[in-house]
Amino acid sequence: MTEQSPQTRAVRAGINTDAAHGAVVPPIYLSTTYAFEAFNSPGQYDYSRAGNPTRTVLAEAVAELEGGAGGVITASGMAAVSVPVLALLPPGGTLLAPFDCYGGSWRLFDALERTGRLKLRLTDFSDSQHALAEIADGVDLVWLETPSNPLLRITDIAAASAAAHAVGALVVADNTFATPVVQRPLSLGADIVVHSATKYLNGHSDVVAGAIVAADAERLAHLAWWANTLGVTGGALDSYLTLRGLRTLHLRMAQAQRNAEAVVDLLVGHPAVKAVHYPGLEGHPQHELAARQQDGFGAIVTFDVGSEAAVRAVVEGLVCFCLAESLGGVESLISHPSTMTHASMPPDIRAAAGITDGMLRLSLGVEDAADLVGDLRAGLDRVLALG
Ligand SMILES: *Cc1c(COP(=O)(O)O)cnc(C)c1O
Repeated sequence: MTEQSPQTRAVRAGINTDAAHGAVVPPIYLSTTYAFEAFNSPGQYDYSRAGNPTRTVLAEAVAELEGGAGGVITASGMAAVSVPVLALLPPGGTLLAPFDCYGGSWRLFDALERTGRLKLRLTDFSDSQHALAEIADGVDLVWLETPSNPLLRITDIAAASAAAHAVGALVVADNTFATPVVQRPLSLGADIVVHSATKYLNGHSDVVAGAIVAADAERLAHLAWWANTLGVTGGALDSYLTLRGLRTLHLRMAQAQRNAEAVVDLLVGHPAVKAVHYPGLEGHPQHELAARQQDGFGAIVTFDVGSEAAVRAVVEGLVCFCLAESLGGVESLISHPSTMTHASMPPDIRAAAGITDGMLRLSLGVEDAADLVGDLRAGLDRVLALG
């Protein structure tokens, strides 16, 4: 038989593998503890923090989609971010991270730097020449996040990975925004992928979870050991729900990306919009890199309406977009980075990262495109009515 497509594998992960009763859907194992087969002879599982059959099905499914040797499911995306940093960075080692990385990741890296555990350097990875020089300068761990939040800047994963390996550094890619449907960093040279499964992998805004996938089996075992030792492995019920969400990942991403394109078409033609940030646009500074590196342009769109008053006019009255943080669910969301996701950044750092007060970020869900476009058009027309 020919190799099954990733979509088929995601749908069929763990299906019809129940030896006890022939359950088509793999059951949830909530038991925290497992009986030994005999004296001094544990079975495959002994205690759920260390290993759980429901979690294993999800870990294997995510690892297959990312093309890794295996995966670890964690209690949150931040747990998935924490484990590689704590497990792989030598004491006082240098971590090179994007200046516009996820706020929670920045908070962790910054706290570890302030308590003397690592040296943190931040750089703009979309400026490839500069970023490659920073890597060549000597680092231990390179952290990538592409597309970035909220400006959707793109990092050349292959170039950054090659430069990192040349100085003996490892590369971790946070693939939350793209998902393995759109981008597979391990195939481009990254060593480890992390996810906030809270976002697209689960996709229904009802689970907080994370995932770590490593290209190399030995490194994966090391990361799994640390996840168990730190006690940050994921729960069985969360794993079950995330696996259920994962089965429709390809369908959801396809529809969400179609909706993103429809909304971008509206935004680029509307007089209330000052700028649109979307890697699928030919005018995006790294459009060609995104087209080469990704299998699609994702379902996050950021745009600028020029002022906080205009932002208010757009968001007050929307019926198909909730004003909320997070992303990647079946329902469309709109967020205002400068008062929400990036509010804890000092204004000067926010400005340096290119985040303006008139900027809005959309996470497109899987609703009907015409409904989303109509709702957003009405919001933008309210801006024009401000005069
Ligand atoms: C949300 C998010 C995280 C953190 O994940 P949690 O599940 O909220 O802990 C990390 N990275 C990115 C890119 C995210 O969007």
